[in-house]
Amino acid sequence: MSTDRIAQYVRPEIQALKAYQVGNADNLIKLDNMENPYDWEEPVKNGWLERVQSASLNRYPDPEASELQKQLRQVMSVPDEVDLLLGNGSDELIQIICMALAKPGATLLSVTPAFVMYKMLAIFTGMKYVGVDLNDDFSLNLELMLSEIEETQPAIVFLAYPNNPTGNLFNEQDVCKIIEASPGLVVIDEAYYAFADASFAKYLSRYENMIVMRTVSKMGLAGLRLGYMMGNPCWINEFNKVRMPFNINCLTQASVEYALENVEMFNKQTQQLCRNRDELYDAMQKMPAIQCYPTKTNFILFRTEVGQAARIFDGIKKAGVLIKNLSVNGGALTDCLRVTIGKEDQNAAFLSALQESL
Ligand SMILES: *Cc1c(COP(=O)(O)O)cnc(C)c1O
Repeated sequence: MSTDRIAQYVRPEIQALKAYQVGNADNLIKLDNMENPYDWEEPVKNGWLERVQSASLNRYPDPEASELQKQLRQVMSVPDEVDLLLGNGSDELIQIICMALAKPGATLLSVTPAFVMYKMLAIFTGMKYVGVDLNDDFSLNLELMLSEIEETQPAIVFLAYPNNPTGNLFNEQDVCKIIEASPGLVVIDEAYYAFADASFAKYLSRYENMIVMRTVSKMGLAGLRLGYMMGNPCWINEFNKVRMPFNINCLTQASVEYALENVEMFNKQTQQLCRNRDELYDAMQKMPAIQCYPTKTNFILFRTEVGQAARIFDGIKKAGVLIKNLSVNGGALTDCLRVTIGKEDQNAAFLSALQESL
């Protein structure tokens, strides 16, 4: 096909992009994408199969996913006074928020480095993107944040709490000051809520310009694609207009409902992963050739010696373990690699692969 039409009609900012890619993990221990490695207990799995057997695939799903919303409220400590909106992954929630607020010339502000989809969705929806550098230790540069907010008057501020790809929790008071200084909406993205032991949900009644977003992906249901946001009913009402009518399919609704009835199993897995994380972190901290950043997530970001990241990444891969090379992103992530926390034996395999590769 002639590429002329592409060149003429596809928006130039889209032509300039590359599609999202994930590494090929065939025959490798997969520690690259913040997935929960643990299997379901046999009786729980059987109960799930029974549950999905009765799903009506010929019918459209419940457009509001009311049963699932009820369950989420109970299990995820959703404050009574806020409304919920569900998305096909929290990625879709980011898209919904951007579509609703992307007036011509509007700005989306986040930090650098941040979750890459914030910038992507800003581009897709025609918003200006501003990324404010974090400090060298990846804490918030509050002064710089406040002056950039003053300068750019962003319609949306996105902050992941804890942050991906750095893993740390920002200072709570700093985040409050950012919310107070923001003219528009501030979205607190709590994708790692299960591992963090911290949340801004308690501030939902204090700040009418804040919403909190979460996902069930990182707790072990990434394949189902479900995210949820909590916020003042006035915001949720607007976002609900932009949402596709049947965005949560019936298998996801039935499966997440069932999983939440069995949330104890997931809580146990999460607690185990936190113990595994702390053990792996301690072991990595004893290695003088790398520097580990503190983490409240299910991954560890670490810095290699200058210019060594690609070689070490390849060495670990040759030893059968796939992690993520973030050094290719450049900037503050140059020389950085990221490992997702796995089962004990997977982490041990990673540790010895790392040791051999340094
Ligand atoms: C993984 C992640 C998401 C996306 O989660 P999905 O619900 O799987 O789309 C959003 N924000 C952050 C910070 C993440 O790390």
